[in-house]
Amino acid sequence: MDDQFNFDTLAVRSGTLRSEFGEHSEALYLTSSFVFASAADAAERFKKSEDYYTYSRFTNPTVTMFQDRLAALEGGEACMATASGMSAILSVVMAALQAGDHLVSSQSLFGSTLGMFSQIFSKFGITTTFVDPTDLDAWKNAVRPETKMFFLETPSNPLTEIADIEAISKIAKAANAIFVVDNCFCSPALQQPLKLGADVVMHSATKFLDGQGRVLGGALVGSKQFIMEKVFPFVRSAGPTLSAFNAWVLLKGMETLSLRVDKQSSNALDIARWLEQHPAVNRVFYPGLESHPQYEIAKRQQKSGGAIVSFELKGDTPEAMRANAWRVIDSTKICSITGNLGDTRTTITHPATTTHARITPEARAAAGISEGLIRLAVGLENAGDIRADLARGLGA
Ligand SMILES: *Cc1c(COP(=O)(O)O)cnc(C)c1O
Repeated sequence: MDDQFNFDTLAVRSGTLRSEFGEHSEALYLTSSFVFASAADAAERFKKSEDYYTYSRFTNPTVTMFQDRLAALEGGEACMATASGMSAILSVVMAALQAGDHLVSSQSLFGSTLGMFSQIFSKFGITTTFVDPTDLDAWKNAVRPETKMFFLETPSNPLTEIADIEAISKIAKAANAIFVVDNCFCSPALQQPLKLGADVVMHSATKFLDGQGRVLGGALVGSKQFIMEKVFPFVRSAGPTLSAFNAWVLLKGMETLSLRVDKQSSNALDIARWLEQHPAVNRVFYPGLESHPQYEIAKRQQKSGGAIVSFELKGDTPEAMRANAWRVIDSTKICSITGNLGDTRTTITHPATTTHARITPEARAAAGISEGLIRLAVGLENAGDIRADLARGLGA
């Protein structure tokens, strides 16, 4: 049904596998294995484990429904679900690269992704060059003969820098590198990287796809050939599999994805505009603001600015900036102090001491994450109530 329907229809109608009982809602197949009619039937099905249900580390019908729905929403041929966003990154690198290969990645990354590239993959001979995601020449100049993959997050976490997916895809293509885009911050409701030239979309389904802060999940979407020939064999053998229960929760989350993200974006724009005028605030990072350095690119490749607003508090020293940021966070009564994002509830985070605390101070400085920075992942509450919640600590 993928080509005939619009996004909102696909979000609730695609990826449906009905059993003989005709259940209306998606069935939750909690089973580790599947039974066979005979020994010969078992032998046949094991031979083609991607086409049949044999064991839930390989395939499970509830997980298939999640994969089909996400592939439809991203406009991709195939999807492989994983246990978390990080295991999706692990899987795409393990599936496509080997020792001696080289990766070019944005330097503005989710903290754990930065750690994977700089500390884990390097142990296995896969090296990474980090570049400013907005500097096209930097991407070009980082390419080496052994470069096999480009990795990008846009908007970036937590500074919401916007990189030009289409322009970078051309550089990746010329370098014969697989171009992977982490589409976590926008979700397919706002941005579809495959349509802009990316080869693979990576997701932390934990964020907007669930959208209600309940379960962990991840996914890779791309060509049928890449997903089935490269990624599926790795996930089947190594086992970073999405559980059927989590897939079922995520399926229900995806049905309300665009409703939620549209409302969260309009709330975020409201709050960003207000913060921009506030005397205690140094700078606001939000792609929907005209003051954002990549506002024009954002307007072209995203439907709206998204739900993430970061802002930097004023302060004469790093210590003063941290104290100001912590005061704002500690004065809130509505916002949840937590590292997650993409929830119906607004979350507030101090990246320098939480999500980005484990990376070196030098890497943090290179990524532009100061002690005064606060990341707000705007939820579905009333925007005026959130403004009032932040005003308490800002005004003091
Ligand atoms: C959360 C997040 C991840 C990692 O996802 P998990 O599901 O927590 O493993 C990767 N990239 C971005 C941009 C994220 O926000």
